[in-house]
Amino acid sequence: MPSFAASISEQDHRFCRERLQVEGMQAKLDPGVEEQMTAADWIWAQMVSMLQDKVGTSAFDAWFRPLSVKVDDGRVIVAAPSRFFLEELQRRYEDLMRKVLEEVSGGELVLEFRVDSSLAKETRTQAKRETTPGRVDGHVDPRFTFENFVVGESNRFCHAACEAVSRNPGKAYNPLYIYGGVGLGKTHLLNAIALRIVHTMPAKVVYRTGEAFTNELIEAIRGQSVESFRERYRQVDVLIVDDVQFIERKERTQEEFFHTFNELHAAGRQIVLASDRSPLEFRGIAERLRSRFNSGLVADIQPPDYETRLAILRSKTRIAEVELPDEVAELIASQITSNVREMEGALTRLTAHMSLTGEPITLEVARRVLRDMLRGHEHVVGIEEIQEAVADFYGIHVREMRSGKRARAVAFPRQVAMYLAKTLTTLSLPEIGQGFGGRHHTTVLHAVQKIEAMRKENPALDEEISRLEARLRR
Ligand code: ADP
Ligand code: MG
Repeated sequence: MPSFAASISEQDHRFCRERLQVEGMQAKLDPGVEEQMTAADWIWAQMVSMLQDKVGTSAFDAWFRPLSVKVDDGRVIVAAPSRFFLEELQRRYEDLMRKVLEEVSGGELVLEFRVDSSLAKETRTQAKRETTPGRVDGHVDPRFTFENFVVGESNRFCHAACEAVSRNPGKAYNPLYIYGGVGLGKTHLLNAIALRIVHTMPAKVVYRTGEAFTNELIEAIRGQSVESFRERYRQVDVLIVDDVQFIERKERTQEEFFHTFNELHAAGRQIVLASDRSPLEFRGIAERLRSRFNSGLVADIQPPDYETRLAILRSKTRIAEVELPDEVAELIASQITSNVREMEGALTRLTAHMSLTGEPITLEVARRVLRDMLRGHEHVVGIEEIQEAVADFYGIHVREMRSGKRARAVAFPRQVAMYLAKTLTTLSLPEIGQGFGGRHHTTVLHAVQKIEAMRKENPALDEEISRLEARLRR
């Protein structure tokens, strides 16, 4: 295997450095091994951003910040300050770390763990050097600005709402609740609000994921410091909670959140929430909280259409200073349709490949490197495509597919689309449920069984669905 370390480009290096500075962490490496430094930075920066998303800020600070990382001969070597620390880290996060690395390196690198007691001292000094990215309390990505967000039909409304809130916090829409499927830009927009506000006014902005909020509360309860937890949140001008669905079925967290919400709202402070489902579809949540979520502006964000996907890709390549031939951009935008994050993953992989091998990115190279994402050269049907085709066929709006509407005119096409999603894609029932506005997998199963049975009894329907299948398989 070629050394991954040897050929990471200057741009990647710079990009990662910036990112690492924001994270307040340094990849600690063998001094003088400049090339290795770039590779470790690159890998670690990617891992950092994914891990932080997954474990939440406080767990991240506790478990990942004290680590050092080195990339050597196809291995990513993670060192922890003590044996005890290492064991606990592995117990909690080894599986996740392996998964993340696999995703980042496309399976090219393996993960190893060791102890490095010299880190123990550094960890203490580092801890004091608290990082304050901008003046936001919480982790925000400085690249997730409004300027870097591409507006298209699918996100225009949501984007406008976020813009308005960032210019006029507490006054425009309160709360602002945005929702949509994974990788469609919700976190990006929330970050943009936080960044814009701290850059333009002396406001105290707190950014939390639902998970981080929950963990903070649990720690406060454990340490009997709930009062100071409350006090902390009462002083906030703008409270942004991402992935608020995490508090589903967590009653104590909901209760605390409810009070925080009310206090802030009554005081005219801005609240912004993002979730993967609409307030209506939020099941395991107290009614009073749901009605609060619904009381301001609710804006949804849809998967981008082809033109927007292409524009996003262009914007990302410009930011990363990567050259991507038109036909490769078109290949990615036409085949990776489900979400933007995946599209970025494809771009990252191509860039890494180019750095590794020096091979320019041609259409053929892209097809080869991305083959598992494109699933060969055949046409792969995605859930959005199915929804669009079925909505079009039955003359309803595709938005209604993902809505909670129960009217038969909408419910039946939706069941057909769920059935086709099950039979034409490799998605699991929960994933399909997700694609239909966060429905339960049993709902999907019910739809699949029902349509299957109806096809057997009703030749006209059978014919209808066969036509749809043919159209989708192309
Ligand atoms: P979500 O929070 O909805 O799951 P993210 O905000 O994390 O999604 O977006 C995933 C990735 O896609 C991010 O890197 C983000 O910058 C990018 N992205 C999504 N939508 C857009 C857009 N309209 N313009 C530019 N980048 C976008
Ligand atoms: Mg998100």
